[in-house]
Amino acid sequence: MQNTSNKVNWLNTIFLIATFVVGVSGAIILTSFGMVKWQTWAFTGVYIFMTGIAITAGYHRLFAHKSYEAHPVIAFVLAMLGSACFEGSVLEWGTDHRNHHRYVDTEKDPYNIHQGFWYAHIGWLIRLDPSKRDFSNVADLSASPLLRFQHRYFPWIAVFMGFVLPTLVCSLWGDAWAGFIVAGVFRTVFNHHSTFFINSLCHWAGKRTYTEEQTARDNWITALVTMGEGFHNFHHQFPLDYRNGIRWFHFDPTKWLIFGLSKVGLAGNLRRICRHKILQFKLRVDEARLKRKHHADSLFIHQKVEPLKAHLVNLIEKIVHLEAELASLLNATKIEHAKGKYQECKSQLQGCLHNLKTVQKELNLSLVNWRALCI
Ligand SMILES: [Zn+2]
Ligand SMILES: [Zn+2]
Repeated sequence: MQNTSNKVNWLNTIFLIATFVVGVSGAIILTSFGMVKWQTWAFTGVYIFMTGIAITAGYHRLFAHKSYEAHPVIAFVLAMLGSACFEGSVLEWGTDHRNHHRYVDTEKDPYNIHQGFWYAHIGWLIRLDPSKRDFSNVADLSASPLLRFQHRYFPWIAVFMGFVLPTLVCSLWGDAWAGFIVAGVFRTVFNHHSTFFINSLCHWAGKRTYTEEQTARDNWITALVTMGEGFHNFHHQFPLDYRNGIRWFHFDPTKWLIFGLSKVGLAGNLRRICRHKILQFKLRVDEARLKRKHHADSLFIHQKVEPLKAHLVNLIEKIVHLEAELASLLNATKIEHAKGKYQECKSQLQGCLHNLKTVQKELNLSLVNWRALCI
C-alpha cells in the first residue's frame, strides 16, 4: 500500500532540515576555527562506517532480505548501530523496503523514481504518513523480540546511539561539543544521504546489467558512498544474494564484512545466486541491447549474435550438468573411500573434472568473443 499523503510530515521535515543545517554548518564553522580535535574526526570516520554498514549489512541484507543468518550478538549490534542513522526502526525500514522491491517503479513503490529524483531521494519522507504502514509484509521480523524491542523504544535508542554515545566518546579527549555536532549530527546527515542515494542515484545513473525491466542501475561510483550498494541492478534482480558487487574487485565492504563474519562463525547460510544463472540474465540483456543497436543489420544479428548466444547458453547448460555430476561423483567417492574402494571412482571423477575444465575453457573463450560483439 502507498504510505504517503498530501500532508507534510513535519517531524521528518524539521528533523531533516535541522540536522542538515546544524550538522553541515556546525562542522564547517567548528573546523574552520580549529575547534575539532583530530581524534573527533577520526572517530567520526569510524562511526560513519560502523553505522552505515549497520544499515546495509543489518537493516538491508540481514533483516529486510534475510540473505544470511547472523549470531544474535551481531544482530543486536547491527540493530543498535543502525538506529544511530535515524532511518526508523528495522520494522519500519523493512516494510518500506520490501514494498520497494515488490512494487518497484509503480505508484505503490514508497520511493518511486518515476516521481522524480528528489522525490525518491528525500521527498517521500516529507510526505510520509506512518499511520498508513500496515507491517503485514514483515510478520517474520515482528516475531523477533529484538526487533520488537528496537521498534518500541526506537526514539530513545536512536537518540542515545546517534547523539549521546558519540558525545560521550569524544568527551574522553575533552571534545564533547564537537563530538555532538560532528560525530553526532553531521554523521547523521552523511548516513542519511548515503542511504537516500540508493533510492535516487542507484535508480537514475548507471548501467542496467541484468534486467532492463526496472530502473535499478549498477554504478561503481555510487557503491563508494553507499557501502557497496551501488550494484543495484544486480540487487533488484537477485535480492536474496548477500552480495551486491559480485566480482572480487567490486567495492562492496558490506559483502566483505558478512563474508568475514562467516569465517569466524558469527554469520552463516550466506545465500549466493549460481554464477551461471547470473550470466544467463546478463546474456539476455546484452542480446536485447545488440538487437536494438544493430536492428538495421539483420544479417549481423542472425549470423553472429544469435548463434554465439545459443552456443554460450549451450555451454552453460553443459557446465551446470557436469557440476551436478561432479557433486554426485564426489559424494559417491567419499562413500567408496570409506569402504576402501576409492580407485573405482577415481577415474570417473577425473574424467568428469577434465570435461568440466574443457567446457569452462571454451565458455571463457566464447565470452571473449561475445564481449567483442557488445563493444
Ligand atoms: Zn532500489
Ligand atoms: Zn533491497
